[in-house]
Amino acid sequence: MRIAVVGTGYVGLVTGTCFAEVGIDVTCIDIDLKKIENLKKGILPIYEPGLEEMVIRNTQKERLSFASELSTSIHGCDVAFIAVGTPPGEDGSADLKYVLAVARSIGQHMNDYIVVVTKSTVPVGTANKVRAAIEEELEARGVDIPFDVASNPEFLKEGAAIEDFLKPDRIVVGVASERGQEVMKKLYKPFLMNGHPLIFMDIPSAEMTKYAANAMLATKISFMNDIANLCEIMGADVNMVRKGIGSDVRIGNKFIYPGIGYGGSCFPKDVKALIKTASENGYEMKVLKSVEDVNENQKSVLYNKIYNHFGGSLAGKTFAIWGLSFKPKTDDMREAPSLVIIQKLLEQGAKVRAYDPVAMKEAEHMLGDSIEYGKDEYEALIDADALLLVTEWPEFRSPNFNVVSKLMKDKVVFDGRNIYEAADMMEKGFTYYGIGVKQQV
Ligand code: NAD
Repeated sequence: MRIAVVGTGYVGLVTGTCFAEVGIDVTCIDIDLKKIENLKKGILPIYEPGLEEMVIRNTQKERLSFASELSTSIHGCDVAFIAVGTPPGEDGSADLKYVLAVARSIGQHMNDYIVVVTKSTVPVGTANKVRAAIEEELEARGVDIPFDVASNPEFLKEGAAIEDFLKPDRIVVGVASERGQEVMKKLYKPFLMNGHPLIFMDIPSAEMTKYAANAMLATKISFMNDIANLCEIMGADVNMVRKGIGSDVRIGNKFIYPGIGYGGSCFPKDVKALIKTASENGYEMKVLKSVEDVNENQKSVLYNKIYNHFGGSLAGKTFAIWGLSFKPKTDDMREAPSLVIIQKLLEQGAKVRAYDPVAMKEAEHMLGDSIEYGKDEYEALIDADALLLVTEWPEFRSPNFNVVSKLMKDKVVFDGRNIYEAADMMEKGFTYYGIGVKQQV
């Protein structure tokens, strides 16, 4: 089979590379010329574990190629994936201008039957707009070429994207015609070994499934953060409560870790977009509105603890930050809680020195020289008044606390992800603040 993947970001590049890995002939297309030039040389625009080797291997095997326009690359393709961004517009709804621009371009250049699959996260009804945009272009060309549209939302997690794509919990495809369904069945066949299900449904349900999944996950996070805040007030330990409820299979032990709020390029924008879709259609998503509220508040929880600990005078203090990306194993800093905390500290006249295993380049891009950067986690600690654990990278879990003690000016740790144990930290002589646990001062 031969496919085109339009949009070569976190989703498009992983999608294209994984299809190439199973033997499909893939062209990844992006309008960003520099990105494409770099990819041709094996230089990746993003960090994703294992992806670089896979891109290089499949490029060498000539199953994976890169192009900056789809005009000819689309010829002979069975499927074209749309995997461009759908950022939030001013009113919170998903901005479809990139998706529809790609649809128009497909309509301008396709020369044979093709299935046009939206992989980007898009509101219910988008497939109809994609279909209309393509039809309009075909009409303008005065040609009648058959095609199908499909919705195939992506559930990969940054940091584990390859594993998620190659061994998916499920693949969801919304498609109306039998012909389109057969093409999608053939395309995904190599991924269905070991019982991974391919679930066919109508297009609106597929479009809604992605939002419902992300909204549910965001709800779990906000719920647990709410419980953590109450635990703190009532003198309970949320780590214990988490274990207590997580062992109930109806609840499960995933996604119930309290922290400093969800971030990233998906949860915030998808929750917003679903609230907007509902209100545009006369319905109010009351739970999700609270999920958002709790999350906004949670991004300040760590900062409030810092502010109170230092009696409100943060000017001239130095804060070491471990972790900048919105979660471990990615360099993605979009909507990262670290950005909110850093901004608040800088506003108070504090100094910030940060270290992240892979997101430093991206951080420099976003924050410039408003903060300092340590060359490793220990350098970030030199003369710091406190350490802020912001992203739970595995390498921060067991640092050499003797070295940590010696480097810091004051032994205070604000643990935004509860990766350390309060009692253990106290024994080591640290003043420890976690989320939803008793303060050890
Ligand atoms: P991204 O911003 O990393 O990449 C988007 C790419 O599309 C960019 O490289 C951009 O240059 C390119 N592009 C824009 N317009 C184009 C055009 N007309 N032609 C060709 N290329 C074009 O975005 P992403 O994080 O990969 O997300 C893409 C979509 O997938 C979004 O809808 C997102 O919500 C969804 N999604 C993302 C994730 C994730 O973890 N990042 C997971 C599941 C779903």
